[in-house]
Amino acid sequence: MERNYIVLDLEWNQGSALTENPDIPFEIIEIGAVKLNEEKEITGYFNRFIRPQVYKKMHFMTQKVIQIRMKDLEKEETFVPVMMDFQEWCGEEPVFCTWGSLDLTQLQYNMQYYGMKPLSEGPMEYLDIQKLFSLYFEDGKSRRSLEHAVEVLELQKTDDFHRADNDAKYTAHIFQRIEDRSLEKRFSYDVFHKPVDKGHEVYTIFEDYSKYISREFDNKAVALRDKDVARCICYKCGHIAKRRINWFSLNNKHYYCLAYCKTHGFLRGKIRIKKVDNGKVYVVKTIKCIKREDVENLYVQDEKSRLKKKYL
Ligand SMILES: [Zn+2]
Repeated sequence: MERNYIVLDLEWNQGSALTENPDIPFEIIEIGAVKLNEEKEITGYFNRFIRPQVYKKMHFMTQKVIQIRMKDLEKEETFVPVMMDFQEWCGEEPVFCTWGSLDLTQLQYNMQYYGMKPLSEGPMEYLDIQKLFSLYFEDGKSRRSLEHAVEVLELQKTDDFHRADNDAKYTAHIFQRIEDRSLEKRFSYDVFHKPVDKGHEVYTIFEDYSKYISREFDNKAVALRDKDVARCICYKCGHIAKRRINWFSLNNKHYYCLAYCKTHGFLRGKIRIKKVDNGKVYVVKTIKCIKREDVENLYVQDEKSRLKKKYL
């Protein structure tokens, strides 16, 4: 089966301090998307406006940025039928591509609000074109605006930004210019839907690190005591690496450890504690090989964390 890339961009409106509904902080009013085949050739476009059901006034911040007026939306269909058309247009198992991570989050917030079937059962792989742009054209760390990328690549600027159809087209053209196909292995995870149980946890080995996304735990202490969370596996050989420095933290949010694999040397583990709306937590753990100077740095940091405990 041929998989499609769906380059997606959304525009949304929001409530004021008085009218905000926490179940749907941002209400989608436009879906724009470009479909590409496996050769990254454009095979279709999708563009629909949506008549809002929650926020019927355009927020002044939204109005500043986008050129859509509320009365233009009155004749449009509501979210659910538009979204159903969109999903049918996407085809089976689309690979979503977006500029940054926000669009997929807001899309799923809206789907959840209207009780639609989730896009995925657990974390979902997608391609963050903003990240790939940085990896291919810049330093890999910076995150630039879409407009910046369009200027750098000297893409023809014919249409306004901040309209979903235009932004999706710009993003698709940037995606086409990223010629290194191996970068598509550097996908990201959307974690709107957390792993519900052990069977849905994520463990992925990338070229230079591994990533683990855990199921939910009642609280941080329980999570950190869990064997799967605490364990350090060398991603190069799959063997358990012995911990030389146990998990420690300087800010109670990020935890680090040092482990050693007999074959592959020193590994640094990093755990980020993520809070979930229901008060529970899950963790994202990455493990990577490190150089000697980073090993020394970890010893220094660990020492600091112990001093902090002693004197606080
Ligand atoms: Zn190893």
